[in-house]
Amino acid sequence: MEPTTLQAWQERIDALFGAKDRRRGTAGNFMWFLEEVGELSAALRAETLAEQTLEFADVLAWLMSLANGAGVDLDAALREKYGSGCPRCRLVPCNCAVGDKP
Ligand SMILES: [Zn+2]
Repeated sequence: MEPTTLQAWQERIDALFGAKDRRRGTAGNFMWFLEEVGELSAALRAETLAEQTLEFADVLAWLMSLANGAGVDLDAALREKYGSGCPRCRLVPCNCAVGDKP
């Protein structure tokens, strides 16, 4: 059965790759994550939506691997940081100036 929540997907990524990720270590996993970010960058410039979609999945899966290694629940992290709106102005949508970092 396919996962239906972000937390369940993070658990699925751990079930799929957690043992290998732990053997590889954070530094190696982070390098793979950055490689996938580079592939997403290239896909956004020149590839089809279908190809871009796969690269988004790869980046998110590697981000989940890094979070698993660090013991971070991404669903809880998003709720904590963005659950009440913009972390700076508290509005939805954000009303901060375009140049401000949220
Ligand atoms: Zn804001």
